[in-house]
Amino acid sequence: MSEAGGAQESPHLTHAEVTRLWAKFRAGDVVHCPRDGIGMALAVDGAAKAYRLVCTQCGLASAWFGTTPAGIVLRSAPATVAPSGDE
Ligand SMILES: [Zn+2]
Repeated sequence: MSEAGGAQESPHLTHAEVTRLWAKFRAGDVVHCPRDGIGMALAVDGAAKAYRLVCTQCGLASAWFGTTPAGIVLRSAPATVAPSGDE
């Protein structure tokens, strides 16, 4: 077994983390950055109906995500996702 001791960190939050944080946010609770505990801000892309949680201190951010009745859906790519769309 080679355990690096958590040397590699994902630059983004996992789906599970975003789900948990989003649930807190919707409950009216303050969402804290899992890395440093600082409050996170919610960015909203009104056109894409997407949301994103961003730490105001260290810059840790979730991927953009949309909300569905079944939960959140991460959007790996931003708005420029349709290669064959002229409109
Ligand atoms: Zn942070």
